Amino acid sequence: MEVTFKVYRKDPEKDGKPGRSNYTIDIPEDATVLDGLLKIRDEIDSTLAFRASCLRGYCGDCLVRVSGRARLSCVAKVTAFTQKAPEISLDPLRIVPVIKDLVFDWDAFMWNKIRAVQPWLEPKEPASDGENLIPDAAMKDLRKVMSCYYCGMCDEGCTVLPVDFNFLGPAALTKAYRFAFDPRGKETRERLKILEEPKGIWDCVHCYEADEHCPRGIEPTKRIIALRDLAFKLGITNEKVARHHKSFAASVKESGWLDEGRLAIESEGLTNIKGLMKLLPIAARAMARGKAPIPYLHPKRPGADKIKKIFEKGEQETK
Ligand code: SF4
Repeated sequence: MEVTFKVYRKDPEKDGKPGRSNYTIDIPEDATVLDGLLKIRDEIDSTLAFRASCLRGYCGDCLVRVSGRARLSCVAKVTAFTQKAPEISLDPLRIVPVIKDLVFDWDAFMWNKIRAVQPWLEPKEPASDGENLIPDAAMKDLRKVMSCYYCGMCDEGCTVLPVDFNFLGPAALTKAYRFAFDPRGKETRERLKILEEPKGIWDCVHCYEADEHCPRGIEPTKRIIALRDLAFKLGITNEKVARHHKSFAASVKESGWLDEGRLAIESEGLTNIKGLMKLLPIAARAMARGKAPIPYLHPKRPGADKIKKIFEKGEQETK
């Protein structure tokens, strides 16, 4: 079958301006996108740059956008994208610095962020017999996470990274989860202190796009939420978003509804005078419109006791 590959081009050694080259090639019905790229490079244009390694959908190296969707080119069949027209477009990921054509900067995209979460085990002191044995079942959940092959599809799907490229992102935070929850590791407090910094766990907006994109079913969003819960459990709630979550939950638990004034104050931090001062003009404007809630003067709503019980049940279950 004949298919036209419309490939993003950029060569910093020439003018560095992005463009597109079209290549019409004859490929078998069962060809993958990578088969097509290899054919183009071998037979038509040896200057075309792209990455690939294992050719088995395992290493993640050949991640590209195929007709707008992030795919591993070595396992993506061309026919999956040519139902409407015999053509496909190929682009680097949306959010990464491009080195040349489809080759982008993996260090900036993912590896630097993975390094930042300290991706290694800090083992507990061995028991008196010199061993640190744990039951096999204790590793079951982690094994799933350990099947991550760093394809980066979760980061490509993430809705925060296009807005803030410095966010650690779901791939690195999933790696952090893998060590924070390893029963062979020692105290995770230090690790979580790194993760609660700005651009860490609290910057995730839990849109669940990462889970939709992950080909291994690892559910990175669920892992980030678990890291947040663990941070709460260990009392690591210094970041503004953490305080916001904590105040929101406390207010609804106590009264059955949200105390907006309290939320604003506690999110800034009770000792953060500068932050609290910033709230004054907002409070003045709300007051002028008769909408200023009086913090902490917050009567219980009917049914508040039932809501409190729901919270308590949830807290018991997550202990
Ligand atoms: S969590 Fe899933 S999508 Fe993200 S890098 Fe690992 S395997 Fe890829």
